[in-house]
Amino acid sequence: MEEPRAIEEELPNLEMLESSNMTSSYYNILVVDDEEPVKRLIATLLSQDGHQCAAASSGLEALDKVKKHKFDAVVTDIVMPEMDGLDLMRELSKRDQNLPVMIITGHADEYSAETAIALGAREFIKKPFSITEFIIRFHKMMDDHRGKEALLALSLTDELTGLFNRRRFFVLAEQSLKVAIRTKKRPLLFFIDMDNLKLINDHHGHNEGDQALKDLAGILKKTFREPDIIARIGGDEFVVLLESTDESGEKLVTRLHENVKDYNAERCKSILSISLGTAQFDPDSPISIDELLSKADALMYVHKRRRWRRTP
Ligand SMILES: [Mg+2]
Repeated sequence: MEEPRAIEEELPNLEMLESSNMTSSYYNILVVDDEEPVKRLIATLLSQDGHQCAAASSGLEALDKVKKHKFDAVVTDIVMPEMDGLDLMRELSKRDQNLPVMIITGHADEYSAETAIALGAREFIKKPFSITEFIIRFHKMMDDHRGKEALLALSLTDELTGLFNRRRFFVLAEQSLKVAIRTKKRPLLFFIDMDNLKLINDHHGHNEGDQALKDLAGILKKTFREPDIIARIGGDEFVVLLESTDESGEKLVTRLHENVKDYNAERCKSILSISLGTAQFDPDSPISIDELLSKADALMYVHKRRRWRRTP
């Protein structure tokens, strides 16, 4: 069998390669190869690049390590005893589909690279490889991975206010209601509508309107607590789901209205005005998050109409 060429190369001055490590982040990496010299070389390269490395000689050993420690990436050979790289890939993607895996393929198993990519491998490199190529491909894989993670975080956040967006809210709220059924807790949902967004936009411009939305988000963060799920689910619609509450809902409603009042007082004008409705989840007669939202939304409208009648 052909010896990997990289082993015969002298270890390069890694400062030369530094420019390819744009993010200069350091990772925990699992290196899997049954050929001791290849495994040692890759671990040395990655360590010199600043990363922490653990090594395994088979898929089975790798899987055992993955169960015990958290790795940011895996670099694995394909042909190995006990459990090969492809079976390892299958197992890894069952555990975490987002774990970046780089495959090292030998001369005889080029076909496996395709299978590995289909199984979710992000990068592959062919033996014999050069040290430079390995490091560059590794950095590319990790940079792509970070890009994807950042994009995912963005797609779950409301860009203007930084709160969760509608999509994220539904995912989290559904989980929360499931837990509530199991633990017999009674989550409380707040549906909050900003009354005068259109008015602000029309009279003071959209920048003022955006600022008011951001400020209301700030007031919600100040009023509620860290584990509460706070989201903006529409233009001027906000929701807060409290996993459970030891305070009465009324107390929180009062605190929220007071915080809005303080905000307006600081600015010497009534720029912010909200209508809200609440609905409590009953674990003994569970309803869906959509139904809970409709309930709170309906009460919010009752509240809004009542206030319209009061203000001529
Ligand atoms: Mg092998």
